[in-house]
Amino acid sequence: MRPFGYLSAPDLPTALDAVAAGARPLGGGTNLVDLMREDVERPETLVDVTALPLAGMDELPGGGLRIGAVVRNSHLAADRLVRSRYPVLAQALLAGASGQLRNMATVGGNLLQRTRCPYFRDHAASCNKREPGSGCAALGGLHRGMAVLGTSEHCIAAHPSDMAVALVALDAVVEVQSVRGTRRIPLAELHRPPGETPHVETRLAADELITAVELPALPVARTSRYRKVRDRASFAFALVSVAAALEVRDGEVVDVRLALGGVATTPWRAREAERLLLRAPATDETFRRAAAAELAPAVARPDNAFKIELVQRTVVATLRQLATERSSAERADGTERSSAERADGTEGGAA
Ligand code: SF4
Repeated sequence: MRPFGYLSAPDLPTALDAVAAGARPLGGGTNLVDLMREDVERPETLVDVTALPLAGMDELPGGGLRIGAVVRNSHLAADRLVRSRYPVLAQALLAGASGQLRNMATVGGNLLQRTRCPYFRDHAASCNKREPGSGCAALGGLHRGMAVLGTSEHCIAAHPSDMAVALVALDAVVEVQSVRGTRRIPLAELHRPPGETPHVETRLAADELITAVELPALPVARTSRYRKVRDRASFAFALVSVAAALEVRDGEVVDVRLALGGVATTPWRAREAERLLLRAPATDETFRRAAAAELAPAVARPDNAFKIELVQRTVVATLRQLATERSSAERADGTERSSAERADGTEGGAA
């Protein structure tokens, strides 16, 4: 590993000054440190942000939730308010990594994790993301795990985060700060498709630090699920995944959120499918038609063409499961939770 500087920031202004001077933020280090060991990432200085006062979770007026950027994935998954109001998020986190990794990984770091395309870490292979302009070895190589949506001729790597797929379905907003001020970015706009610049993965400026993620009050999210299909039962990246929230009344879809993972270069909000689902009968036929429309623009290669059918089936299975559960209105009856309830341990078990 190359030598690097290390600073543990005692407060936010110190961290923002360091980032403005070129330091890379260090959360749990579960991805960045790995890549430094493999000489893919070469930061000159790391600024450790885990001691900053960004580890809290606070209810927002109206029922939303503000999640500090250095909240550990394990804490977020176990939070009783998250489990009751946004079960899709807790499930995505638990599906996302081993317990050891969840104990280290932070919310901000999870959003900025980099691709698991094997060529990205292989210095003998061409990779536009690692070395801009060098080419893409995956196009003519191993691409079973690669994306079919949002790709370009310069990169077809799938986005690796499970958590981000759930958050994009939940209309999450990311708060970022820099020495220039604070701004908010809808999570659906944080990650950039590869286009001609696959190495530019987000819309963050170089001096910006993710400080929080905010979830709006979203009643439909009480009836939500994350379903992940992978090669082995645990500790593997998604071949395909689906984050869905659904409310059905009198057999008709009255609210829906849908996002896809493992199939796209960014956490993929399935807006075309949502459009077709809303006010339609909650039937398998509707679910199939919506999933097919969302995947219509997919571009597959020989080894990942199976993902198109697999993710459509996973969408149908997930929506069918949600449609047969109690409606969110029924579930809300007597189950509205407050932070006091969250603290007194009356709901569910910790992960
Ligand atoms: Fe690199 Fe993207 Fe091609 Fe993988 S798919 S080799 S990350 S450019």
